[in-house]
Amino acid sequence: MKLLFLNRQVVRELLPMRACMDALADAFRAYSSGKSVQPLRTMMKVPATDDILASMPGYDGASQSLAVKLITVFHDAAEAGFDSHQGLLVLFSAEHGNPLAIMDAIEITAIRTAAASGVATEALANKDATTLAILGAGVQARSHFHAMTEARDIKSVRIWNRSRDRAEALTEELSAKNSADVTVADTAEAAVSGADLICTVTAASEPILKGAWLQPGVHLSAVGSSTPSKRELDSEAIVRSKLFVDSRESVLSEAGDFLIPKSEGAVGDDHMIGEIGELLSGKVEGRQNKEEITLFKSLGMAVEDVAAAHLIYERAKAGNRGVWIEM
Ligand code: NDP
Repeated sequence: MKLLFLNRQVVRELLPMRACMDALADAFRAYSSGKSVQPLRTMMKVPATDDILASMPGYDGASQSLAVKLITVFHDAAEAGFDSHQGLLVLFSAEHGNPLAIMDAIEITAIRTAAASGVATEALANKDATTLAILGAGVQARSHFHAMTEARDIKSVRIWNRSRDRAEALTEELSAKNSADVTVADTAEAAVSGADLICTVTAASEPILKGAWLQPGVHLSAVGSSTPSKRELDSEAIVRSKLFVDSRESVLSEAGDFLIPKSEGAVGDDHMIGEIGELLSGKVEGRQNKEEITLFKSLGMAVEDVAAAHLIYERAKAGNRGVWIEM
C-alpha cells in the first residue's frame, strides 16, 4: 500500500485561494444539509500551559472524503521559530478506509480559514466594499488579506496589531506584491473607522473591537477566538450585527464572542440567523440592505480541512506532486 506525502510548500502551491473557496462553499452546503459528519473537536490542554493538542475528524459529504487533522496551538512557539498552529492531516479512502495521504496542516489551516471568511464575505458584504481593516498581523492576517482581495475589489487596507513592528513588516510585505494601498493603523479604532470589511484575527482574550466603532454596512469576519472564555468582539458588536456562523453546534460550545454576551442576557440563540451553508443554499436570507452590519463568526470546521485535503490530493495526483511512501 502506498501513501502520498505532501509537504508544506507543495500544499501551499496546490491550494490556491479561489479553488479553496469554491471547495469550501460546497462543503458548507453539504454540512448544513446534513450530508457531512463532524463531531465537536477534542481539545486537550497540555498540563500547566495554555497550549492545546486538538483532533478534528470529519467526513465531507460534498467531496465524499474522510480525514482527520491533528493540530497543536502553542501561542509562544514563535519565540523558538515555530508557527503557533502546527500539525498533520491524514486523508483516508472513504470507500475502503485505507490511508491515502499525509500532508502538512499549517498551510491547510492558514488557507482554508481565510477561504471560509472569503466565502462568507462574498455572500454577505456589500458589493462595493473597497476598504479593509485587519486586526492582527500573524498567519491569519496575511491569508485573510488574500481571501478578502479575492472576495472584493479591495483598494485600501489598514492593519493594526498589538506589536506595531509586526504590522509594519506585514504591511511592507503586502505592499510590495499587491496593488492595494496598505498602511499601519495606530489603534484598532483608527483601523476600523470607515472600513467596509473588518477581519479580527488575533489570539486576544479580551475584546479588541468595540461595537460602538462599527459603521453601517460593514461586514465582519471574527476568526480569532475559539474558546468559551475568550473573545475579540465586545457584546455591543454582537448585538448590532446580523450573525452568521460556520456551525451552530460549534458556536454554542466554543465561541466566547457569542457565549459571553449570551450569558449577560444581551442576545439569545435566535440571534444567530443561520449557518453559511444555509445561506448559500438559500435556506436563510442574508444582507437585506446596504446599512446592515453583518458578521461571520468562524470557529473552523473539520469538514473545511477534509474538503481542502481532497482538493490537494486530487491536484497532487494529477500533477505528479509529492512523494509516495510504501507502508
Ligand atoms: P499567529 O500566532 O500567527 O498570530 C497571532 C496574532 O494575535 C498576532 O497578531 C498577535 O499579536 C495577536 N495577539 C496575540 N495575543 C494578543 C492579545 N492578547 N491581544 C491582541 N492581539 C494578540 O496566529 P494565527 O494568525 O495563526 O491565528 C490568529 C487567531 O486565529 C488565533 O487565535 C487562532 O487560534 C485563530 N484561528 C482560528 C481559526 C478558525 O478556523 N476560526 C483557524 C486558525 C486560527 P503580536 O504580533 O503582538 O504577538
